[in-house]
Amino acid sequence: MVQLLDGKALALQIKDEIANEVRQLTAKGMRAPHLVAVIVGEDGASQTYVANKERSSKEVGFTSSVYRLPANITEEKLLETINFMNNDSEIDGFIIQLPLPKHINEQHVINAISPEKDVDGFTAINVGRMVLGEDAYVPATPMGVCTLLKRYGIETAGKHCVVLGRSNIVGTPAANLLSRKGFDCTVTMCHSKTQNLADMTRQADILVAAIGKPEFVTAEMVKEGAVVVDVGIHRIPDETKKSGYRIIGDVKHSEVDEKCSWVTPVPGGVGPLTICSLLENTMKAYKRNNNIE
Ligand code: NAP
Repeated sequence: MVQLLDGKALALQIKDEIANEVRQLTAKGMRAPHLVAVIVGEDGASQTYVANKERSSKEVGFTSSVYRLPANITEEKLLETINFMNNDSEIDGFIIQLPLPKHINEQHVINAISPEKDVDGFTAINVGRMVLGEDAYVPATPMGVCTLLKRYGIETAGKHCVVLGRSNIVGTPAANLLSRKGFDCTVTMCHSKTQNLADMTRQADILVAAIGKPEFVTAEMVKEGAVVVDVGIHRIPDETKKSGYRIIGDVKHSEVDEKCSWVTPVPGGVGPLTICSLLENTMKAYKRNNNIE
């Protein structure tokens, strides 16, 4: 019988834990942790993501600011804003919502973020620290995947984990984290040049789907009893919904779920944990900034 890795419920629990900690700190007279999100331009999906991050930050008692910058801002001006945030001791962490307009070099901008305030874990310094197993800010989505597996007590040591996708923000860090001491998976990372993909995925005790293709993973690609983590998020037009769309993942849940021992639903699986991880990283940055612990 399949069991749900319920990200929505777990996220509520983690947010509660963070909110309690914030209450205790502010009761002692300390300021609340401060997270800033920078959004450049009017991209609809980015606006939604930033609004969700802002709402969650406020829910746990953080100070949350959103800097809205025009789409035609120069790279130089954006770098000045980053420099300002790097040097403002009352800002604990900040994120630059991606994608940025085409005339701006994303890598320049990301690497201008102080590694100590890089709560998205995207700078080269934090990626390097993560790969070396040093203390680092880890990207929120793979961190959310790890939190789900850990908090639900999923046995990972010695298991074969197949990660579908090798992006810098999901697949590659997920593969790195799950192969580390503590998780101890044997990891295979697949991508668009992988041959006989279904043969690979059928070997997975734990399958992490981060391929960015709606319902790509079908039942014949999954081993009986596998743990399936679906990272995918796709908006599909649906006139029966008030919003006009529904959310589906990279896994065809209608046929895959009955084969799984554990599975993340979409929505309500990895998504809520992604935001939680950002809050956890911000809490960590706040403590570091204020010499707590
Ligand atoms: P991405 O940058 O598009 O990367 C997709 C990866 O899948 C690439 O490595 C690509 O291989 C591989 N791929 C594509 N088609 C393939 C195929 N036919 N066979 C094998 N591999 C294939 O996507 P991403 O940013 O990692 O995101 C993945 C999914 O997660 C998306 O649905 C995204 O919306 C979702 N997401 C969710 C959250 C969340 O909070 N839940 C956060 C971020 C992303 P190549 O490298 O060879 O091109």
